[in-house]
Amino acid sequence: MSFTELGLSENILQGVRAMGYVEPTPIQLRAIPLVLAGKDVIGSAQTGTGKTAAFALPILSRLGNAGPGPRALILEPTRELAAQVETAIRDYARFTNLKITVVYGGVGYGRQTDELKAGADVVVATPGRLLDHLEKGTLRLDKVEFLVLDEADRMLDMGFLPDVRHLVEKCPRQRHTALFSATIPPQIETLINWAMHDPETVEIGARRTPAETVKHVIYPVSDTQKSDLLLKLLDQVSYDSVIVFCRTKHGADRIAGLLKKNQHAVCVLHSNRTQKEREQALQGFRDGRFEVLVATDIAARGLDIADVSHVVNYDVPQHPEDYIHRIGRTGRAESSGDAFTIMTAEDAPHVYAIERFISQKIARVKLPDFDYRYTVLFEEGKPGQAKGGFPGKARAVRVHGGYHFAPGGRRR
Ligand code: AMP
Repeated sequence: MSFTELGLSENILQGVRAMGYVEPTPIQLRAIPLVLAGKDVIGSAQTGTGKTAAFALPILSRLGNAGPGPRALILEPTRELAAQVETAIRDYARFTNLKITVVYGGVGYGRQTDELKAGADVVVATPGRLLDHLEKGTLRLDKVEFLVLDEADRMLDMGFLPDVRHLVEKCPRQRHTALFSATIPPQIETLINWAMHDPETVEIGARRTPAETVKHVIYPVSDTQKSDLLLKLLDQVSYDSVIVFCRTKHGADRIAGLLKKNQHAVCVLHSNRTQKEREQALQGFRDGRFEVLVATDIAARGLDIADVSHVVNYDVPQHPEDYIHRIGRTGRAESSGDAFTIMTAEDAPHVYAIERFISQKIARVKLPDFDYRYTVLFEEGKPGQAKGGFPGKARAVRVHGGYHFAPGGRRR
């Protein structure tokens, strides 16, 4: 089915064509008709599936022409995501007269206040700063017809749910609400029951399945050799661009320093950096000035960074769903990618949790020409040793003595 058959307005179709989109993605096929029909929608789809257009295109179509507003409000967990979604929406709406604006913290109020006062049809915002504007009286939400709560589980993780509830209360009851979330924990369920009216759920694929275009493997290593292994890995793999994920901001800074010392062009993305630093890092990474981006989960969540050839989990993610999000940075938009996870003995429970979550055993591999010190992980999978939390075929992949060698990098 093509975009033209979905019932979108002509000037939005023009925007879609200008973006070069030929066919709707599965989530767009399912969600667009529902939003156009005025239904509340709960969407769960992996990042990179085209979910922004899935809600933005029908909302823009239904808004039609500019008018007193804002009539559409889109809440995002991070500034980067808000900026990215606003850019996409501006692109889709470029053949309309709709005014789009973005509001987030970490920058001055001036431009945002001016734009809000001038009147915006669509506001994309992070919750905290939007509340500030509401309290200052720069904006009202009583004209909102379409409300989107994007990455709701991440807003929960970041403690934004009370702000979100407050903002929802300021919107009219008569509105359409869409909510996107990779998982539906009980608090989100409560939010859904409270904020949504008879919603339809659109679940694309098995949301727990990593993208098929991503090859992902684990490198077991002793704790003391983690950074050596990372350096060797980056030496051996021929990559175009890599994101290295760390658990903490401090860890991210430390790894970035180490990589810099070893002649890698590195930038860092975490929430202690100023907005300007974050924008510069992202821009530099996008245009190829930096080949490695070191990031924490929160900073990198959902960012549309195209053509990342490799993802390295320097630290194993503590929430299984973050594994899917992290490795989803690579293998996007039809291209393939590799995702490597460095695992120490301490990480074993988290790795087993991930494997249970995705119902897959992730292959353990060894890096050629690396001087390994012993780790108990090398015993994993040996008869009598496999206490692993992975159900079923845990022993199907023999680890000790049975390693595959590292997959090669992708050459340009
Ligand atoms: P998202 O999941 O919204 O972050 O989108 C991921 C990427 O897919 C973005 O670069 C979009 O521009 C792109 N995209 C979205 N929909 C389509 C489509 N129907 N055809 C091709 N690319 C798309």
